Amino acid sequence: MRFVADVMLGKLSRFLRMLGHDVLYFERAEDDFLIYTCKETARTLITKDRVLHKAARSLHLDSVLINSNYVREQLKELQRAKGLSFSKPTRCITCNGPLIKREKYEIERLVPDFVWHRNRDFWQCKTCGKVYWDGSHTKNFVRFLGFNPWEES
Ligand SMILES: [Zn+2]
Repeated sequence: MRFVADVMLGKLSRFLRMLGHDVLYFERAEDDFLIYTCKETARTLITKDRVLHKAARSLHLDSVLINSNYVREQLKELQRAKGLSFSKPTRCITCNGPLIKREKYEIERLVPDFVWHRNRDFWQCKTCGKVYWDGSHTKNFVRFLGFNPWEES
């Protein structure tokens, strides 16, 4: 899904990107700007701010009010509200730029040696250049969530 997250939901934004969603997040943004962005890009607002949520609703924008302060709970709230599906990341966790598949040889000088030797599949952010692989950060994320969102069942 495509979201705009308010300034209090930076961590949730990164989680959602890990799970394959497209999330715009700004470290500083006025309410008007967030509402404008939702409207212009046809995205769902996710916010912890009741006033902002109401304002968005009154303009007939899709908005989900998040209550919990804990990212795992926030994810569940959003899942209940929107029936989220999970897929592997297609967006940069840091900047939301699109990820593109890279050949192993193209990445050789961009990651530490042991990473390069141990992994086969690499992706790179088209916007900021950050390199991703199916490695420890995926495993840590699965451990943190307490389940594997990408498991085929
Ligand atoms: Zn990036």
